[in-house]
Amino acid sequence: MDKYGILKKYFGYPDFREGQEILIDSILSGQDVLGIMPTGAGKSICYQVPALLLPGITLVISPLISLMKDQVQALNQAGIHAAYINSSLSESQISKALRLAAAGQYKIIYVAPERLETYEFLQFAQQSEISMLTVDEAHCISQWGQDFRPSYVKIVQFIRHLEKRPILSAFTATATERVKEDIACVLGLEQPQMLVTGFDRKNLYFAVETPRKKDSYVMEYVREHSTESGIIYCATRKNVDLVCELLCTQGIAATKYHAGLGTEARRRNQEAFIYDSSPVMVATNAFGMGIDKSNVRYVIHYNMPQSMENYYQEAGRAGRDGERAECVLLYSAQDVAVNRYLIENKEQNPEHTWEELELLRERDEERLRTMTYYCMTTGCLREYILRYFGEMGHGRCENCLNCAKEYEQTDVTEEAAKIIACILECRQRYGINVIAGILAGATRAKLREYGVFDLDAYGSLKQLQEIEIKAIISQMVIEGLLVTSKDKYAILKVPRSADELLRGERRMIWRRAKQDEQKANASRPSSNGKVRRSDILNSKGLELFERLRALRTEIAREENMPPYIIFSDKTLVDMCVKAPMQKQEMLLVTGVGENKLERYGERFLKAIFDFAGGRREKYYFGDAGELAIQPESGGAGAASRGKKEDFYLLQKQAEAFPYAEKYLAAELAEKLNELRDADRVKKISGAEISRRMQAMGYVQEVVRDGIRKKVVSQQGMDAGLFLGMRTSKNGFEYEDIYYNIAAQRIIVAMVCEK
Ligand code: ADP
Repeated sequence: MDKYGILKKYFGYPDFREGQEILIDSILSGQDVLGIMPTGAGKSICYQVPALLLPGITLVISPLISLMKDQVQALNQAGIHAAYINSSLSESQISKALRLAAAGQYKIIYVAPERLETYEFLQFAQQSEISMLTVDEAHCISQWGQDFRPSYVKIVQFIRHLEKRPILSAFTATATERVKEDIACVLGLEQPQMLVTGFDRKNLYFAVETPRKKDSYVMEYVREHSTESGIIYCATRKNVDLVCELLCTQGIAATKYHAGLGTEARRRNQEAFIYDSSPVMVATNAFGMGIDKSNVRYVIHYNMPQSMENYYQEAGRAGRDGERAECVLLYSAQDVAVNRYLIENKEQNPEHTWEELELLRERDEERLRTMTYYCMTTGCLREYILRYFGEMGHGRCENCLNCAKEYEQTDVTEEAAKIIACILECRQRYGINVIAGILAGATRAKLREYGVFDLDAYGSLKQLQEIEIKAIISQMVIEGLLVTSKDKYAILKVPRSADELLRGERRMIWRRAKQDEQKANASRPSSNGKVRRSDILNSKGLELFERLRALRTEIAREENMPPYIIFSDKTLVDMCVKAPMQKQEMLLVTGVGENKLERYGERFLKAIFDFAGGRREKYYFGDAGELAIQPESGGAGAASRGKKEDFYLLQKQAEAFPYAEKYLAAELAEKLNELRDADRVKKISGAEISRRMQAMGYVQEVVRDGIRKKVVSQQGMDAGLFLGMRTSKNGFEYEDIYYNIAAQRIIVAMVCEK
């Protein structure tokens, strides 16, 4: 069986997502890999698929016990023999698992890094064939990472003890350039295939709200989403307790998680959330690492987090299944003070010198500031996030609150010049509160103390409210017209770039949400969406969805499994769209592999049949169903049709194509993508190229033993496609489709705009 066969048979997916194929191909050819992909991008498949194709065992090092259990459950459900070995098992359970592992019972074994040192485990590893060692959450190995774990360093010693070095694959969701280098260096990756896929999570909708009463906002939001599962993050344990209690007294099945609760309570509450008996989780940031729940439909931040890294990681727990989900941050100025307090009182590592501590504090301050500006920006929120992580955004995403709002644009170049003049007159000694106070002509005691009433700038913007002046200053910082010092005082300074404005070469436009719009949004927290379930399914479809969901819950209870491990929401939506009547049709539903078909197919088919009364009916709107049934392409999920145009090359771009003796479809796609105008044109994926080849009859799909396999037709061979064998380092052979120069020319001509 090839990688496509494995993907369909065990995972039920027709195509790989962006990046997955390249990493899998590299692993199969014996190359080390380092994959940096955002949460929900599908890292697990990148090592699970090759693990099943490689001859021996794959060891997966993961720091998170809860994640191991979840992953192993999901693999077992899919019919894959996997196990985990960690401290949650008793000694005798561990010995048994190792005995079975040594007897070749498992293809994939998850272990905690601490385990690698134990005599028993090492003995097992030395006597077994370990084909691959996968390091999950690989950033933990770097001292520069946010959560460095000394136990990760043991991995390196462990590898040295093995007779034969396995292929190494490492994965993480976040890694700066430095951490990336660290991972490769510390783990000793040999000429690894590095792949960084975009940070954009297109199915996530972002919003920052400033409600007057956060509690009412949360209540209303949760009520409006009463059938859905969500997480509400709070900055402090106290807030967690309050918000959870508030929701519970209103009859909402909420639970909570923070470090102040006992281990047993935390475990119980976490399970209640995962198993959907309490679909709403109120928690501090202690919750979430290793939670793999795919159907979290919203993440609300009751307080602003301390950094964009934290925010994106926590918000990213929404919508892992690729379906639309919402990330709403409730901002209030007080959040900044709370976070500053938390930073100042953070537990210190006693090994750090005073200078290092200062440096770390400065970094924390800087991160907090960038986070605060996210809450203040009037530009596209996604753009802000992507830029922060070093990617170019597209100006407007049309899938965040700021893109949906209407703005009044006011030229405030003169006001900006007055702000700069004020900062200079004060000799760049004050932060935003004092400067705004001076410009507005405020009379509070502190300003008197500073003796600023005689300044020329005093009251020079008194026609504006202080809050408006602060908003302009914030926008100036975001646009680089002002900078702030890196310490906690955030003193405003005037950089060189401000000269352009003072010389009249640059204008400053202040974007301000229209008042009505603001109010409308405050009362409709979730109404400006893109593709959601109700956009795809008609009313009968939604009814069927509920029926299938109830069946899923029933099965989950019987089997003591989280519902999303049985089938994801996305799979249920696709089931409603395709409304399969027979087993073979059921296999076409995304997320239905052979094993799950075997286990649950009958019951779901019967539920659909009973619901439809044996008739074929359409449960989706117009062609909206296409959204759900289209295979994913280039990582863009169903809910994420951007504004960009489908892939094409201009004649001139096409001329630069680097023809080579042979390419795989994924390599071809990569070369083509490098030539396109990335701002306007979507990427093409290897899967898309294969699909087009299939549509042209060059590639045919044959089903053998119920498994799809792609073969080259005679016509395809004439065009220059050929099946080639690839050999992994371990001598394992497998087939793949290659494109020779003639075939490459056909594809380039096909995508070239005439
Ligand atoms: P990550 O580890 O990167 O956060 P996961 O491996 O948990 O992400 O994958 C996120 C979700 O995407 C899972 O529900 C997974 O089954 C799904 N997924 C992964 N690869 C594909 C694919 N090729 N097609 C469709 N869904 C996929």
